Amino acid sequence: MSNESFPTVGREVHLIARPTGVAEDSDFELVEAAVAEPGPKEVVVRNNWISVDPYMRGRMNDVPSYVPPFRLGEPLEGGAVGTVVASRAEGVPEGTTVLHHLGWREYATVPACHVQPLEVEDSPEEAYLGALGMTGLTAYVGLKKIAPVRSGDVAFISGAAGAVGIVAARAAKALGASRVIGSAGGPEKVALLVDELGYDAAVDYRKGSLSRQLGVAAPDGLAIYFDNVGGDHLRAALANMNDYGRIALCGAISEYNEERLPPGPNLITAIGKRLTLRGYIVTDYDDLREEYLQLARGWLRDGSLPLRETVVTGIENAVGAFLGLLNGANTGKMLVRLEGVEG
Ligand code: NDP
Repeated sequence: MSNESFPTVGREVHLIARPTGVAEDSDFELVEAAVAEPGPKEVVVRNNWISVDPYMRGRMNDVPSYVPPFRLGEPLEGGAVGTVVASRAEGVPEGTTVLHHLGWREYATVPACHVQPLEVEDSPEEAYLGALGMTGLTAYVGLKKIAPVRSGDVAFISGAAGAVGIVAARAAKALGASRVIGSAGGPEKVALLVDELGYDAAVDYRKGSLSRQLGVAAPDGLAIYFDNVGGDHLRAALANMNDYGRIALCGAISEYNEERLPPGPNLITAIGKRLTLRGYIVTDYDDLREEYLQLARGWLRDGSLPLRETVVTGIENAVGAFLGLLNGANTGKMLVRLEGVEG
């Protein structure tokens, strides 16, 4: 192993204060830190792409959850794709492109058992943080297992122009949906849903009653609701569900910045309509990864799944990318490309 192939110091983003409500720049700090030499069975990865994701907002709160909170004064974590620049691990040589979980930093020293070598011949490496990664699998799991789509179903997807939403639209069609309706904020995104992102109809949640707009877009009601947003979206979907409808509770982004959770929708509708509402966490469904990857690679090859990304450049802009994500600054997967990476 040569240790001349990576610098001794790299930049990383620390959480320095727990946000109250909407997170702010001042909750984070860009810090220079020593890059650790790899120990036995470890590799040093130069991160090329890092992922910012809505769930990270939850990890900034010091509350019990399905993942532990981020620690103050330490680097944030998250999905990253990079190149191995030093290796003391058999089977993961220098030059390998890998996916791992120590994002938010330029260089990461990682046990080799925590990196996943990637096939990057046919797909851009950053796709493994989106359509071929966690967000893509989340969409597929939701519609295959949680709220299974059946032939002829009408499906509604919120957060429709985002990373999960775009794949959910493609997956719903693949699983047999006859009509897929999406919601997004603002006329430009709404137009994009129908013109480029595979939706049959779209509604703008910022423009008047969502429930009424859904009634027009789905006059015969909904069989499926894939919920990325919660709150008013869930309420409007419940009002438009047909009997025996199925709802995948994937996310509730409208509530991630709330200091106190607002009262939820009244579920009496779910009784009368015999609805199934089911929450899930994608990490419980690793067994579906290969099946999904086969499908998604095919969709990317034949162009039926648009590979949409919003790319921000430089580790110093990672916090801005994350804050923008929670405000709808993205279409498709929000990614940070680190300096020196072509693309
Ligand atoms: P997105 O790419 O969809 O980005 C977030 C989007 O949310 C924004 O672009 C914005 O779009 C929308 N948004 C923000 N605030 C609001 C609001 N108040 N009301 C409605 N829409 C809003 O993110 P992801 O695709 O990564 O994640 C989508 C959802 O899936 C999130 O809720 C996330 O937590 C969840 N998730 C769940 C997983 C699980 O295992 N259950 C795993 C991964 C993600 P717009 O401009 O349209 O407002």
